Amino acid sequence: MHLHPNADPAEVVVVSNERCTAGRKPAGFIRHVVFDVSGTRLEGSFRPGQSFGVIPPGVDARGVPHKVRLYSTSSPTRGEDGQGRHVATTVKRLIDEHVETGRLFLGVASNYLCDLKPGDRVKMTGPSGKRFVLPADPWAHDYVFFATGTGVAPFRGMLMDLFPEGEHPGRGDGGRAVLVMGSPYGTDLLYDGQLRALEARSGGRFRYVTAVSRESGWSGDGRLSGYVHDAFGRIAAVDEVLSGGRALVYVCGVAGMELGVLRGLWRSADGAAFVGVDASAGEPGVWTRRMIHKEVRPSRRVFLEVY
Ligand SMILES: Cc1cc2nc3c(=O)[nH]c(=O)nc-3n(C[C@H](O)[C@H](O)[C@H](O)COP(=O)(O)OP(=O)(O)OC[C@H]3O[C@@H](n4cnc5c(N)ncnc54)[C@H](O)[C@@H]3O)c2cc1C
Repeated sequence: MHLHPNADPAEVVVVSNERCTAGRKPAGFIRHVVFDVSGTRLEGSFRPGQSFGVIPPGVDARGVPHKVRLYSTSSPTRGEDGQGRHVATTVKRLIDEHVETGRLFLGVASNYLCDLKPGDRVKMTGPSGKRFVLPADPWAHDYVFFATGTGVAPFRGMLMDLFPEGEHPGRGDGGRAVLVMGSPYGTDLLYDGQLRALEARSGGRFRYVTAVSRESGWSGDGRLSGYVHDAFGRIAAVDEVLSGGRALVYVCGVAGMELGVLRGLWRSADGAAFVGVDASAGEPGVWTRRMIHKEVRPSRRVFLEVY
């Protein structure tokens, strides 16, 4: 961790920058940006689930140099290139309005990253984060991954680690995985083609489930009309993995998704293995986000990363 701290960032080079939605009209603009980190201390040092920092050039409105922003790596441990030299992230353009003037506000780092061209040089720090990673023996567990938006980034890398291309999927009996990917519309699904291909080559060990909330008629095999937490009790693979006794649950994406997932875990067959709940918390329906980590405590088998 922190092989390149903020005071000593690495200079890395952009390899490619591509849209990562298949649809031409997604609700947000999200890009897959790949960096060449070779020759820096970052080479071969990232695990999926960790983040790196980006220091955008220039100064803010007060004339102070821009601060570092964190981005999850979406690459497998071996990197995009198989050698640990090319590291990717999944970045969403932040587009907002000034509170007072109502004028367009473009997030500094996200738009800087999305506008980069191959060959551009970027100041990168990291790696950071030590808990939101696969365990030392990934094959000793099964997984349910819940993602919304760019929260899919760490799971793309983890799934590529669990189901490497060209190799026999999984080792022994463990390492089964379900990804529940939530988005408002089908056109917002990220890495959809790659994840379908991964499901196809997994020999039934990986299930890819899409939960789409604002599009009517999103139903069928692996399709849920609703939110990621609607998978509990409706997607057999989720319930099977959760009741198998060795499941780990990872949640990444928009803040606010944790509560629905914790409610679903608590109500699942093996609820107490995933969530510890004080009597004062009341029924799951009245839980609030403020209770998380206090009256409603994810167990050591649940990993949350929301931003
Ligand atoms: C562990 C971690 C991992 C992350 N991983 C990812 C990832 O994989 N992909 C990803 O896209 N993001 C990720 N993020 C979020 C990312 O770090 C940034 O927060 C995000 O990209 C926005 O940064 P920005 O510089 O574009 O926006 P900023 O310029 O920092 O703006 C941030 C907020 O401040 C408001 N704001 C600031 N100044 C003004 C102003 N003058 N007027 C109006 N509003 C203003 C903006 O509207 C916005 O809500 C992650 C965050 C964390 C903590």
